[in-house]
Amino acid sequence: MAAEKNGSTPDVTILGAGIVGITTALSLTERGFQVALIDRNPPAEGASYGNAGSLSPWSCVPQSMPGLWKSIPGWLLDPEGPVALRTGYAIKFLPWAIKFFQSGQEYRLPAIADAMMALTRPTVTLYRHHLKGTGSEELVRDSVYVHVFRNAADADLSKLGWRMRSERQVPLEVVKGDALREIEPALSQQFEAAVLIKQQGRALDPGGIGKVLAEKAQTMGVSFMRCRVESLVPEAGGAWRIKTDAGPVKANQLVVAMGAWSGKLMQDLGIKAPLDAERGYHLVFRDPGVSLNNAIMNVDAKFVISSMSAGVRCAGTAEFAGVDAAPDYRRARVFKKLAKDMFPDLNVDDVQEWMGPRPSTPDSVPYLGEVPGFANLYAAYGHGHTGMTMAPKTGEIIASLIAGETLDVNMTPYRIGRFG
Ligand SMILES: Cc1cc2nc3c(=O)[nH]c(=O)nc-3n(C[C@H](O)[C@H](O)[C@H](O)COP(=O)(O)OP(=O)(O)OC[C@H]3O[C@@H](n4cnc5c(N)ncnc54)[C@H](O)[C@@H]3O)c2cc1C
Repeated sequence: MAAEKNGSTPDVTILGAGIVGITTALSLTERGFQVALIDRNPPAEGASYGNAGSLSPWSCVPQSMPGLWKSIPGWLLDPEGPVALRTGYAIKFLPWAIKFFQSGQEYRLPAIADAMMALTRPTVTLYRHHLKGTGSEELVRDSVYVHVFRNAADADLSKLGWRMRSERQVPLEVVKGDALREIEPALSQQFEAAVLIKQQGRALDPGGIGKVLAEKAQTMGVSFMRCRVESLVPEAGGAWRIKTDAGPVKANQLVVAMGAWSGKLMQDLGIKAPLDAERGYHLVFRDPGVSLNNAIMNVDAKFVISSMSAGVRCAGTAEFAGVDAAPDYRRARVFKKLAKDMFPDLNVDDVQEWMGPRPSTPDSVPYLGEVPGFANLYAAYGHGHTGMTMAPKTGEIIASLIAGETLDVNMTPYRIGRFG
């Protein structure tokens, strides 16, 4: 893709061509701005590449919930458990972890849930809008989000997470036995019940969607520059100089959308905004032999499994090891046994492994909007477990802010300085 370095400085330069940067570029371009996107890699090859593809307009339950801490020691001790903390990373992880548990106090949850849902609610509509005319419209499917339980008694809508959803009019239904098998015929009889979250979407190829939308952005006039961003230097008059491995690049307005890598860049400017890389893994069964109708969440093991373009994909787990530590693919291989347990007819012989870092804030709410103390600098990162879902609305918000439009969202919960 063509570099845009010596021509006129674009109105807005976006750092990071993940799904957040790409959808933000589209929303800005639709408003008539000249946009440049900078990434060291081709578009959508970070966390946006291999995620579980769940597009839930109803996501409003954060990762940190009351009582969660009781499960953590057991998870950490289990090599096949859903959470891992790499030896040597504990000291660095601690300050983020403290804020994470503080965020999960019950009195904080309503504001967090509303802030999450303001970003998730229009996801399917906005993806369909962006994909229109690309020829890849079928990459977003209507779906039910099937949360399966081995023990029927655990499909209990009186639990806090489900109550939070019910209070926000999320369409839920409990199904058991044969009714569940009708929805997902290949699911093992060991799973007795499920809670269905209805009226949502799923992506058949999250990375593919990012690439298709990046191509669309390019045809709409967005320029792409392939280089590594090293630091940001504010200049007189509100302009910016971006130091890159390809030399300095001038910018007028800057949007930071480098996902889990944004933390260090902002820290170097003196901005305090806790962010950790919650590294997730996927395993794709390329010749699965079974087909799943929906996105399915294994609630106990905490991973999502669904049929995608490339096969059946399991995605999940959270590993804290630092953003650039080498992957430990044993964490992906765990899915072989877990998936076979759910779908006995699944062929698990031909697999492909992947790791990507979720950009996680302690309260599951991203940092969005103007960065106090710096002119023309906008944050658009920290989308954690729901960034694929939240990306298009993020793009709309950032574009509206830059265009000076009246916002339909209260920006207070997203402010970058909220952790002090
Ligand atoms: C296993 C897993 C499952 C998930 N499942 C779901 C799901 O079902 N639904 C959902 O909504 N979300 C899901 N997510 C979360 C979602 O994938 C992320 O929140 C989202 O992709 C973040 O997008 P992003 O654009 O902010 O970051 P990224 O996609 O990581 O993009 C950041 C970009 O910045 C670039 N970059 C970084 N540093 C530099 C630098 N120095 N110079 C230049 N470029 C740089 C990178 O190359 C990258 O392209 C999941 C994540 C994982 C890991």
